[in-house]
Amino acid sequence: MIQITMPLNFLGTVYREIRQALVDMGEMFALLDQPAEITDKPGAQPLKVTEGRVELDHVSFHYDPARPILRDVSLTVPGGRTVAIVGPSGSGKSTIGRLLFRFYDVTGGAIRIDGQDLRDVTQDSIRAAIGVVPQDTVLFNDTIYYNIAYGRPDATREEVIEAARAARIHDFVVSLPEGYDTRVGERGLKLSGGEKQRVGIARTILKNPPILLLDEATSALDTQTERDIQVSLRAMGKGRTVITIAHRLSTIADADMIVVLEKGRIVEQGRHEDLLARGGRYAAMWARQSAEGESGEEGEEPAGPR
Ligand code: ADP
Ligand code: MG
Repeated sequence: MIQITMPLNFLGTVYREIRQALVDMGEMFALLDQPAEITDKPGAQPLKVTEGRVELDHVSFHYDPARPILRDVSLTVPGGRTVAIVGPSGSGKSTIGRLLFRFYDVTGGAIRIDGQDLRDVTQDSIRAAIGVVPQDTVLFNDTIYYNIAYGRPDATREEVIEAARAARIHDFVVSLPEGYDTRVGERGLKLSGGEKQRVGIARTILKNPPILLLDEATSALDTQTERDIQVSLRAMGKGRTVITIAHRLSTIADADMIVVLEKGRIVEQGRHEDLLARGGRYAAMWARQSAEGESGEEGEEPAGPR
């Protein structure tokens, strides 16, 4: 990382803006939090994804040594399967996503993709292998076309349109007077939350990553829009490994495995029916959300004291 020692604020701002434009994860994670010491090992090789198996092996993590965030988390997602991570706000769900991208290194244990420790492979190759649909897709002040093509800048126009169709945004786009050339973002057409999500999904479909991370991808949407988006997300998840962090349990009931995280520990793990039958934490969360009805956006409980 370049060390800018001149105390020129504007330079920092320009640098941040350029960096923001260059890196496509900025939308999901507090990118500038990324510690500079996370760098490729000398001779690091690109990650080779074969099945897309993701393994957390006794993972511990803290941002601050005084406060453990993840404690001995072990979890294996076989290639092509979907695992859902649920739990109260602050339990460490998004942190797992940040570790998967190697924005931080684990402080104990290891994370492996297809057997390769993330610390041994290049960061670029990790980020190329994982697609993300964040809660709030950030659009660039540019055309819709650019915003989708960003997922893979060398894609052909046909591929961009194909991705837009798969994300169910194409019909909307062609209904606009300027179609794919419509400018969006803060200085352009304001898209609704659902439309923005679809652009984000199209971008990710175009990127075509073997592994997907959905961090509460639909929690900001109303129920009908969420249902529609879920259809697109499921289609996108076919044949990929999907790690989904969910607010509303109704969206993850069909996951291959559900993991309940509490204060950085896995407290329950299993399929929806098994977890309901067990009558524990998940069953209680499910009962609460069912009682709240479909409008229940408060899927998470407040974080308890650590
Ligand atoms: P969740 O996604 O389950 O709501 P997070 O993984 O975002 O939880 O956060 C877990 C805990 O880690 C929270 O208590 C949060 O305040 C803390 N945390 C998150 N990011 C940072 C950071 N960059 N530095 C220090 N603490 C953080
Ligand atoms: Mg989170």
